[in-house]
Amino acid sequence: MGKYKKLYGTLLLGLIAIIILLTAVFSYSRSIEESYKEENINSLKELSNQGALMLNNEIKNKQNLLVELSHDVSRIFVDDPQAAAVYLKEAAARNNFKRIGVALTDGRAYTTDDIALNISERGYFSRALHGQMTVSRNLDDYTDGGRIAVYAVPILSDGSDKPIGVLFATYSMDTFRKTIEVSFFSGAGYSYVVQENGDVVVDSRHPESFKNLKNVYAALLTADPKNNRDSAEKLWQLINSKKDGYIEFYNGSQKYMYCSPIGVNNWMLLTVTPASVIEDKTNMVLHKTYLLGILLIVIFLLLIWHIMRIHTRNQRELMNIAYVDEITGGYSFAKFFKEAEPLLRAADKKTAIVSMDIDGFKYFNDMFGYEEGNDLLRYICQEIRASLNEGEILAHGVADTFIFLLRFDTRDELLWRINDLCLYLNHYITKSGQVYKLSLSMGIYEVDGETDDIVSMADRAYIARQTIKNKGDTAWAFYDGAVRDKLLHEKEIESQMERALAEGEFIAYYQPKYSTKEQRLIGAEALVRWRRSDDVIVPPYQFVPLFERNGFINKLDRYMFELVCRQQTLWLGEGLAPVPISVNMSRMCLYDPHIVDEYIGILEESGLPAAYVKLELTESAFFENTSIMNGVIEALHKVGIKVLMDDFGTGYSSMMMLKNVDIDVLKLDKSFVDDIGDERSEKIISNIIYLAHSLQIEVTAEGVETKAQFEFLRDVGCDYIQGYYFGKPQPAEAFADLLQKETWNGSDADADTKS
Ligand code: C2E
Ligand code: CA
Ligand code: CA
Repeated sequence: MGKYKKLYGTLLLGLIAIIILLTAVFSYSRSIEESYKEENINSLKELSNQGALMLNNEIKNKQNLLVELSHDVSRIFVDDPQAAAVYLKEAAARNNFKRIGVALTDGRAYTTDDIALNISERGYFSRALHGQMTVSRNLDDYTDGGRIAVYAVPILSDGSDKPIGVLFATYSMDTFRKTIEVSFFSGAGYSYVVQENGDVVVDSRHPESFKNLKNVYAALLTADPKNNRDSAEKLWQLINSKKDGYIEFYNGSQKYMYCSPIGVNNWMLLTVTPASVIEDKTNMVLHKTYLLGILLIVIFLLLIWHIMRIHTRNQRELMNIAYVDEITGGYSFAKFFKEAEPLLRAADKKTAIVSMDIDGFKYFNDMFGYEEGNDLLRYICQEIRASLNEGEILAHGVADTFIFLLRFDTRDELLWRINDLCLYLNHYITKSGQVYKLSLSMGIYEVDGETDDIVSMADRAYIARQTIKNKGDTAWAFYDGAVRDKLLHEKEIESQMERALAEGEFIAYYQPKYSTKEQRLIGAEALVRWRRSDDVIVPPYQFVPLFERNGFINKLDRYMFELVCRQQTLWLGEGLAPVPISVNMSRMCLYDPHIVDEYIGILEESGLPAAYVKLELTESAFFENTSIMNGVIEALHKVGIKVLMDDFGTGYSSMMMLKNVDIDVLKLDKSFVDDIGDERSEKIISNIIYLAHSLQIEVTAEGVETKAQFEFLRDVGCDYIQGYYFGKPQPAEAFADLLQKETWNGSDADADTKS
């Protein structure tokens, strides 16, 4: 589920990024388009206005020329108009005119190309006769029907401003057009000159221009009535207000037209360029932009793809690590929990969760080695799996723990299967052919709807198994009412422990240790008690195992060590002669890499000389972690703290192990002491003591209750005795009294030896 959520999240993120990128590319291209359009319209404007100015100059120049010529010919004209025409021939040729002519006031004209005309109908004629300098719009030549434009000025008699005739010069439209036609936008642009009413003065021969243009408004509306309506309107406004400006219009394709007043006859120069000129330019840039965009997206997608691939690979590896048990290749506990959930919901049968381990597996490992140990685990896994039915699963956890889910109809059926498994797996044949007697412990939780949390179900199965731990004869136990009560009780303790520690409810009882020879107080062991607020003293067996499971023991042990250090410093200060006090340290502490530094720190803080404290570690701690243990012992020895091996003889200890660890004192477990009287046991004890001494290890016997036990131990050379025979664990005040007495005895003894 989480995985897909993540996947969708990434995809969504990618999608958003791509959309942002596309929007950026799009708006960038839009802005490029805009700025190119603006730039092009600006250059169109420049061209058009420039063209209008040129045209204005051209017309003015020609008019000036004509005015000059009219002066030149006025006298000849009065006498002989035909002679005047002859006179003008050279000027006509020089200035590319089709012809120049002079006309009498009645319209009869004489021309440089010797044609007799009457131009009385022409507008330019009457305008010139009224004294204006004028240029005609385009006209059909009377002579050959060609398109022409005509400049006309009045001919004035000397000293009078009354026109006596008209001098006119005719351009063929082609020549006239050439004077305004400039190639721009690489030949894609062209221009017209139009009158106020839109009638054309100069048209264009450009292939894209309006064909047979008469009136520009009409042409616009004919070319594309729908799209050009507004443009025609805008053009009309521009022309009539004699302003420059541009319109967009359609004639086959989209075009821009710039309108510039020429300043003659209210003529306008219309300069046209196809929009494609702009588009081509922008498209080039846009293509590059799009290409870049696509490239970025591709790179981006590749990146995402790559990241996702790495991610899923890591995920898969993690899954494998988490879900596959390394030793058996089967399910891990994590996988078991995941797979079990849906199986629990299948309503056709009842379900049980079984927590299992192998009794004495550590012993087996020690005897046969880890490889053989792993083989055993694989063998068990394989055999159990073979016995499973559909919908049942099995997983191997840390060390020798297994968990499996069974489905059944009746409890008898379930028990039959459990017993069958225990019977079947009652021995193992090692690689070397040795037959090893196997015994399994199973805790069974029958799923009853009280909890639907698979992890707490597994916890309950585990707790059921804990109830038969070290009871060699019992193979299985159910999680039942008693276990549940115990669990509730533990929950209660757990809810109290932190507060109790903070409020000093954990206190130390001190049990004295005596030397066997002189029977003198030589030390003590600090044993924790929980003195509840109602003054009830709770013994450690009720909470220490729980704290070892939930990790709180580390805190408690540190606290006890600190307490003892402080107590000893106090007693020293009071002038008592304290004895070394050993403090218990759980094997759980060894998993904390800072533990030694912390203990040393506590000791230094208290200012107590190291000789006044010792640490007791249970034998199994040495057994589990010989290398860590040696590191710890070495560090403690460096600062002068001695180390005791507690409970020697309870685990699968081997005498050989003693040579591998540098302990100072061995504490013989009470179970040995209890067996005193039995000849074989006595032999074992004396040999252990002998061996320990040969390794420079002192021996303390624990749980000595009787005189007989004491005397035997004294006789076989046991160094120290701890037990009810000499003294029970007692509160600090009682123990201080004991110290007081000893101090007395001690000084007496000293006095004795001195005297
Ligand atoms: P242990 O370390 O083996 O402590 C010796 C236990 O034997 C003590 O039980 C003591 O009262 C009991 N004992 C001593 N002499 C006799 C005797 O002559 N007869 C009998 N029947 N018992 C005797 P206690 O105080 O109940 O402690 C039980 C266990 O709780 C300890 O066993 C130790 O494993 C654990 N424990 C106690 N205090 C601490 C502590 O501060 N930290 C840790 N980690 N464990 C502690
Ligand atoms: Ca102890
Ligand atoms: Ca002990």
